[in-house]
Amino acid sequence: MKISINKAHFPVTVLGPGRRVGIWLQGCSIGCKGCVSQDTWSVDPGRDMGVAQLLSWCRQTTGCKLDGITITGGEPFDQPPALAALLTALVQWRSHDKLDFDILCYSGYALANLQRKHSGLLQQIDALIPEPFVQARPLTHVWRGSSNQPLVLLSERGRQRYANHVDALAQASDKRMQTMVDGNRVWYVGVPARGDMAALQAACEGRGLAFSEVSWRP
Ligand code: SF4
Repeated sequence: MKISINKAHFPVTVLGPGRRVGIWLQGCSIGCKGCVSQDTWSVDPGRDMGVAQLLSWCRQTTGCKLDGITITGGEPFDQPPALAALLTALVQWRSHDKLDFDILCYSGYALANLQRKHSGLLQQIDALIPEPFVQARPLTHVWRGSSNQPLVLLSERGRQRYANHVDALAQASDKRMQTMVDGNRVWYVGVPARGDMAALQAACEGRGLAFSEVSWRP
């Protein structure tokens, strides 16, 4: 089974608790205004890779020492068969190697919609952050971009690990972003507060570093 991915990284420490694998899927048909990940919107067959290959990368990169896996995008539920194959592979890996990582998944679809259409997929996820990003609503809670987005606990592991975070308010001092450099491209990972990206761009330009293309145009 092939899955279309934008990128993967380890460790990610700003999208869920602990040191995590981050997997960004490619393709999103929702198009929230103000999305900072617009580079993930287009469907791009050139970004397909095998689920087995992605799992192998997860095993090798983490050395089987990880706290969780965060699946985001893009819209993970826009490729349900591939997401199902990925979740099955991750759950089997966790069980076979007796690991205890959790699986957190983001989606821009409404919770009721996901429960109606994808209940089987939700059974393999520990925690879910659904609902579209709404630029007009402030960032109020950890790991969520706008105040309409809940943190939904779907498993016993999810309840144990995330219960204290459901209503946890984001603090100005929280680490929200990570930076990765890949050749002449820079990736920012995390959930920026309003104005963070514009401030970052201005700060870089003030030091002579111009961005030729960014993923967060309004
Ligand atoms: S915030 Fe998520 S669901 Fe919304 S447009 Fe961006 S990638 Fe798609």
